[in-house]
Amino acid sequence: MGSDCLFCRIVAGEIPATVVRETPATLAFRDIDPKAPVHVLVIPKEHYADVATLAQGDPALAGEVLATAAAVAEDEGLLGDGFRLMFNTGAYGGQEVFHAHAHVLGGAPLGPMLARSIA
Ligand code: 5GP
Ligand code: ZN
Repeated sequence: MGSDCLFCRIVAGEIPATVVRETPATLAFRDIDPKAPVHVLVIPKEHYADVATLAQGDPALAGEVLATAAAVAEDEGLLGDGFRLMFNTGAYGGQEVFHAHAHVLGGAPLGPMLARSIA
């Protein structure tokens, strides 16, 4: 995927990011437009378009993304009060960057899971 993908370019060091944790297969960095006091994105370094493709293509790597997200939550002091782990997927999920990423959100009460109900 490489040069066409924003997050692949962050992995390649072509676009700067505030990295908070790195493992051989994953990278965690602060969201450029945070929606909560703590807002970190966790990605596999390898390109997968979304979490479904990642989980079906490489379940172990999907697990590593979760483990890195949990470590970030611990580092950021979120384990006591809790946090939200979110994978926006596809058009209805509101996904904007098509390189699989987990949002780690916390540091304050986050409100209801969705802005509105479907009713
Ligand atoms: P999505 O809507 O795809 O689930 O989330 C994409 C996220 O990427 C958004 O929260 C957005 O603020 C973040 N983002 C977009 N461009 C950049 C960037 O260049 N650097 C960083 N760190 N985050 C970005
Ligand atoms: Zn990518």
